[in-house]
Amino acid sequence: DVVDENAQPVPEPAQSDVKITSRDRVIFPDAKVTKGDLADYYAAVAPIMLPWIADRPISLVRCPQGRAKQCFFQKHDAGSFGDHVRHVDIREKDGSTEPYLYVDDADGILACVQMGTIEFHGWGARASDVETPDRMVFDLDPDEGLDFRDVKKAAEDLKQHLADIGLTSFPMLTGGKGVHLVVPLAPRAHWPEVKSFAERFARAIAQSEPDRFTANLKKASRKGKIFIDYLRNQRGSTAVLPYVARARPGAPVAVPVTWSELRDINSPQHWNVRDADTLIERANSRALSGWGETEQALPDL
Ligand code: ATP
Ligand code: MN
Ligand code: MN
Repeated sequence: DVVDENAQPVPEPAQSDVKITSRDRVIFPDAKVTKGDLADYYAAVAPIMLPWIADRPISLVRCPQGRAKQCFFQKHDAGSFGDHVRHVDIREKDGSTEPYLYVDDADGILACVQMGTIEFHGWGARASDVETPDRMVFDLDPDEGLDFRDVKKAAEDLKQHLADIGLTSFPMLTGGKGVHLVVPLAPRAHWPEVKSFAERFARAIAQSEPDRFTANLKKASRKGKIFIDYLRNQRGSTAVLPYVARARPGAPVAVPVTWSELRDINSPQHWNVRDADTLIERANSRALSGWGETEQALPDL
């Protein structure tokens, strides 16, 4: 792992006045991770997670009885999470308005954990301006049977194609099966423009290398290929956020990495909730500084 002698001191875990109940409840039976362990993980990584999650509408994966029991995806709520979890009213397709959730501090994250949340997924836009996305995500979803090496090669190739049209991208291990390419944007273009760009980009790649890639959502067309899921880039869609614990065996986490690190990593589940110290050290290292921080406009495509 990357150790940087110029790294800044490791921040203290966030102090929180959110009370976590049932700390001993086992949330990940396979990894023996309890609700208390999960809360401690999120308190520890809150300082490195907040730059990515704060002030963004979020959806939660809640598994109140643990990841092996029933989990559900939650987009809005009128107030049962308490004061630390904020609301932003967002217009729905039918013209009505719904209260979406966002957090702006560690207490907000922990209040969600107290309510049984394992995963946090974010909009590609800020709560203060939900109509102009500040990032685009290409979610690389490999068909079963493909190797992580295939995913890494795909990520590298997409990075190069994006660079060719002037866009800088950053890789993130999802903690699941794949990698996300995060493309930060200056928040100027609106959703239809960003979605259309992402779709045309994904289709162009799939057309030029149809044996490796598909931009088609249908499972049947994915055989042996990597699905370039551009649909994260439509209004209302979310993507898993950096440092989120996944509700999967072993309590893996989503982790931003550098392109050179990615070459030496053999699994999208390289780190898990027991690795908070390592993740904090890495996040504050010189190698990771600037990850996800480019201000760029959508080019013509
Ligand atoms: P993996 O690497 O295993 O694919 P992932 O986070 O990319 O992990 P996907 O299934 O590709 O998982 O989903 C991409 C994104 O779509 C998720 O991160 C999440 O934000 C969103 N998503 C997934 N399932 C749902 C759902 N049931 N409802 C709403 N959004 C979802
Ligand atoms: Mn995916
Ligand atoms: Mn996907």
